[in-house]
Amino acid sequence: MKKSDSSRALQTRIVHPQDDLTPGFESFAAPVTRASTVVFPDLASVRALDWRNDAQWRYGLHATPTSAMLQKRIAEIEGGEHALLQPSGLSAISNVYFGLLKSGDDVLIPDNVYSPNRDHGDWLARDFGLTARYYDPMIGAGIADLIQPNTKLIWLEAPGSVTMEVPDVRAITAAARARNVITAIDNTWSAGLAFKPFEHGIDISVQALTKYQSGGSDVLMGATITTDRDLYLKLKAARMRLGIGVSVDDCSLVLRALPSMKARFEAHDRTALALAGWLKTRPEIAVMLHPAFEDCPGHAFYERDFTGAGGLFSVVFDERYSATQIDTFCESLELFALGWSWGGAHSLVMPYDVGSMRTAASWPHRGTLVRFYIGLEDEADLRADIERALAKLAEKASTPE
Ligand SMILES: *Cc1c(COP(=O)(O)O)cnc(C)c1O
Repeated sequence: MKKSDSSRALQTRIVHPQDDLTPGFESFAAPVTRASTVVFPDLASVRALDWRNDAQWRYGLHATPTSAMLQKRIAEIEGGEHALLQPSGLSAISNVYFGLLKSGDDVLIPDNVYSPNRDHGDWLARDFGLTARYYDPMIGAGIADLIQPNTKLIWLEAPGSVTMEVPDVRAITAAARARNVITAIDNTWSAGLAFKPFEHGIDISVQALTKYQSGGSDVLMGATITTDRDLYLKLKAARMRLGIGVSVDDCSLVLRALPSMKARFEAHDRTALALAGWLKTRPEIAVMLHPAFEDCPGHAFYERDFTGAGGLFSVVFDERYSATQIDTFCESLELFALGWSWGGAHSLVMPYDVGSMRTAASWPHRGTLVRFYIGLEDEADLRADIERALAKLAEKASTPE
């Protein structure tokens, strides 16, 4: 392979990587190196194995050239040094917990966190002797008052992937660093493209590669990314002990989708911004929870720290509509499917009962929250679809029950 110039833009380097896994053979596709057993030339090589040394191949579960190639590329996108692949985004979250915490430790979790992360923290608190405490995502520098001597980890999510508050990441990481507490961010919303966590003092970034990186709604994968080698080794040790690995076939699917990720992300972003701008003017919508709009808590931090938004945002409907009516709205949409996850070509919609998901800061809105994921369909068609479903809402509202 021709050497790519490190002065070139990230996007060019993603399309023209420097790996040379199959000397003498060149193609644009990543070779798929399937393996459980890795074969050694002699016993001296076996005895020289050191689990910390990423240049040595040891066992298929831990890494093969294909997964190592993807790890390298994911770290590069995020602006990190080391990435570890996991079989899902949730597994990456779990790796952070098990890699860093032990019984007696305390973890701080924002109220806007991905709900299985909250459940994970609660589980460790209930059955493994840790304490998990929740904080208002807009707490900023006030996080300092919550840090205890046994606080070892602070989670952040920017923005929360349902309620969309954008935290003041710098204020939280500054307070954490002052007390030697590690910070981990779930950076899935920005795909690592629109927000660079290590420039804002974050120690560990977590990605659900299931989303934009895979782009096809057909792969589950996650990653933990760090710049610090000691932290990386802690996560790597836990990953080995937990017996976690990924399929290289899945890796090759993600490698195939990465060069188009930025173009897809920008297309999602454009259509989502246009639809959010229009929805905001509709009388049915009370609050537009898209970080690029002023209604959204932390909008100023979005403006300061982010370079784009992608396809995911939420709205709060006017409280005159009942939860049942909002269900009808969601089910009336034809181009928006009802389903979890996002990052693929297809638009999705889901209503949320946010009040029941909060414990630190009470949720200020009475209307129902609906999250939209804007796919790669035509903007006018998506708008017409939403308009049709809103019209049904109006019909329902005017018919006495
Ligand atoms: C989807 C998602 C995850 C989990 O990813 P999976 O691969 O589905 O386990 C974690 N965090 C956020 C914000 C997500 O959207």
